[in-house]
Amino acid sequence: MAAGVVSNHGYGVDVYDAMPSVARKFLMAGKSGLNITNTHFPDGVGDVYPQPAAPLRTALAAFSAQDVESWMQDLGIQPVTGSTGRVFPKQMKASPLLRAWLGQLQESGVRLHVRHRLGAWDERGLQFDTPDGQKTVQTAACVFAMGGRSWARLGSDGQWAQTFREAGIELSPFLPSNCGFCVLWSDRMKNEFAGHPVKNAQLTVKSGQGVQQTREEFVVTADGVESGAIYTLSLKLRDMLVRGEAATIWLDLLPDLDVTEIGQRLRGRKGKQSVSNHLRRTLNLTGVKRALLNELGDRTVFDDPQALAQQIKALPLTLSGMAPLDQAISTAGGVSWDELTEDFMLRKKPGAFCAGEMIDWDAPTGGYLLTACFATGRAAGLGALRWLENRSL
Ligand SMILES: Cc1cc2nc3c(=O)[nH]c(=O)nc-3n(C[C@H](O)[C@H](O)[C@H](O)COP(=O)(O)OP(=O)(O)OC[C@H]3O[C@@H](n4cnc5c(N)ncnc54)[C@H](O)[C@@H]3O)c2cc1C
Repeated sequence: MAAGVVSNHGYGVDVYDAMPSVARKFLMAGKSGLNITNTHFPDGVGDVYPQPAAPLRTALAAFSAQDVESWMQDLGIQPVTGSTGRVFPKQMKASPLLRAWLGQLQESGVRLHVRHRLGAWDERGLQFDTPDGQKTVQTAACVFAMGGRSWARLGSDGQWAQTFREAGIELSPFLPSNCGFCVLWSDRMKNEFAGHPVKNAQLTVKSGQGVQQTREEFVVTADGVESGAIYTLSLKLRDMLVRGEAATIWLDLLPDLDVTEIGQRLRGRKGKQSVSNHLRRTLNLTGVKRALLNELGDRTVFDDPQALAQQIKALPLTLSGMAPLDQAISTAGGVSWDELTEDFMLRKKPGAFCAGEMIDWDAPTGGYLLTACFATGRAAGLGALRWLENRSL
């Protein structure tokens, strides 16, 4: 986004990337359809982005959901909006959009240099490790967009943090966001139910900061839980674990029935009928949901219909930790806002700007991550443009 803004004003732009090709994480996001933005952008940016810093608010006010859609249409890609407001390219993949985008940048003169890893940044300039040895580059202005610290195999390995620390720039520690969590499952749960989706359950998390609920699907893994509902709750759960609090998700396995109805249906069990059979017959509670009840419930009350009904409506799933940082969809932490001006310029390095996930902001999934990356990229590009134009006066 920054390269586009600057090159459109007639400046020469070079883009350097450590990997053999660019935008690998963007392409990976395309594997699940590329949820590029969200029409349910709240009036207050803070309802989505926790404690947004002023420059992030300004950047999102200047480039938000509608602008992302228009930008995509200008590149010849039609957006489609799902029922929850999530916006995707009609083809539900990233490659046609990326091809059109790179084509447009190349037409406006932007030069791409892959296999160029920024290894150091000192008074000589930017030092890249390349297949042909080290290359020093001096620039009139530069925008860094080196990503967060997850999915290192796609290029976002966070090693730039060392280069930045050496340059005296303050960073907040990286934390997983939109991530899975660990659960100490029994062998039976691991062996028989890893990979199983849990559909139509309601998940509730309670903390001193309030209650959060969601009714999306989630997946049981060998080591815990991930995806959909878990990502939605992940910011709250992560903050509870970081504060040293116990993090418990309360599962309602049958959110369409109230506890009285469930209790009544459970009451008619005949002498010889097993609890499992009875749960299947009266409540259609089978498979992974039945296994969760067995795993997390108090089996000593399974013969008491009322107590069993209460367990089905509020089953405690206690998390033992966060899944590894590298597996998170995104990461919080990175360049502290105190280090940046309103224009996304590093106060200690005039002429150098930052954008995207490498800055310390956080957001849930739903298209909000890419939208903030685009918005901050554009804002940093405009900042670089102002810097260049002031210098040439
Ligand atoms: C599986 C998955 C699915 C996702 N789905 C969605 C989604 O549907 N919607 C959504 O909004 N978000 C989604 N995201 C998140 C989104 O992809 C990221 O937030 C976004 O790509 C971050 O963009 P960025 O440009 O800041 O960094 P990145 O996309 O991480 O790009 C950083 C670039 O910097 C390069 N780089 C790093 N270090 C160096 C260095 N030292 N020298 C040179 N180059 C370097 C890397 O090679 C990389 O190309 C998903 C993420 C994942 C992992």
